[in-house]
Amino acid sequence: MTSHTKTMRAAVLGSYGEPLEITSVPRPVAGPGQILVRLQACGVCHTDVHIWRGESVPPHAPSPFVMGHEGIGRVEAIGEGVGGWSLGDRAGVPWIHDTCRRCDECLDGHESFCQHHRAHGLNVPGAFAEYVVCDASFAVALPETIDPVTTAPVMCAGITAYGAVKRAALKAGEKCIVFGCGGLGLYAVQIASRLGVSVLAVDRDPAKLEIARRYGAAAAEIADSGLPSRLAAKGEKYHACINFAPTTATWDAMVAGIRPRGRIIAAAMVFQPVPLVQEWLTATGVLITGTSVGTRQEMRELVAMHADKPLETTVEVIGLEDVSAALVALERAQSKGRYVISFAR
Ligand SMILES: [Zn+2]
Ligand SMILES: [Zn+2]
Repeated sequence: MTSHTKTMRAAVLGSYGEPLEITSVPRPVAGPGQILVRLQACGVCHTDVHIWRGESVPPHAPSPFVMGHEGIGRVEAIGEGVGGWSLGDRAGVPWIHDTCRRCDECLDGHESFCQHHRAHGLNVPGAFAEYVVCDASFAVALPETIDPVTTAPVMCAGITAYGAVKRAALKAGEKCIVFGCGGLGLYAVQIASRLGVSVLAVDRDPAKLEIARRYGAAAAEIADSGLPSRLAAKGEKYHACINFAPTTATWDAMVAGIRPRGRIIAAAMVFQPVPLVQEWLTATGVLITGTSVGTRQEMRELVAMHADKPLETTVEVIGLEDVSAALVALERAQSKGRYVISFAR
């Protein structure tokens, strides 16, 4: 076989909402400025469910339409003009494939808000395949010591949590509330705790609060109808509230728990208007902002933190052929943790 006839196994999205087809497709080739990564693992993210369902439709579908943006693998080939990568290096495949490098967001260090960024598995082929092409300057350099399977979710869930904590501008000794202790929230609990922040974990599920405490949360509260009044009764309020719960129901509690001039970080994707009284904002000076994944600099900081002591997450290891079932389970909120494809199976 010549190089351009090489193939690979991939899970291909043919029609929205239909099972992915496990099939053989041409193996991509690293162009100038790119590297080819042979995958060892790739996490399945809730965003993949939205893409699979056709709720996040790209302007131009990638060909083949392969989702997946939590990949870990090794550099298999290096394109022209690439520095800093060697064959066999361990590389991470994050959400952002590349950005425009020209807009204000790109130029002043907030590239994750670039409105022209291209994402793996949405705008360009992703990592539900044996190989993926990455932009050499956006692929994540990873140390040999990390475990590919348990590190895969760090590439999206982890960096989104890290970006949210950074956006909250929390300092050691401050207090924050993390709403929603799923995969992202539990990463945020660990990250904020390691930065010396006192974390109150909030979730509807006592079992998740139990895990949050094990991961470093100083306190935990069940998310029930009494939560806003319990928070309002507290003498000392919180410097930041980070919302990972995909609901408008957390806003009363956030308003009750935040200090004047505190920061509210909207991390969950909520498509309904939120209940908020503008006069309250006027009186308190509370800042409300959103967050989206993280920058390359934040990824370097996160990888260093993870390499120092792995961030914990519950992983369910699957094969490439199990991805469709994993998407359904994620959609039905039936997963026990993060699904991660292992290509070693
Ligand atoms: Zn994701
Ligand atoms: Zn840009």
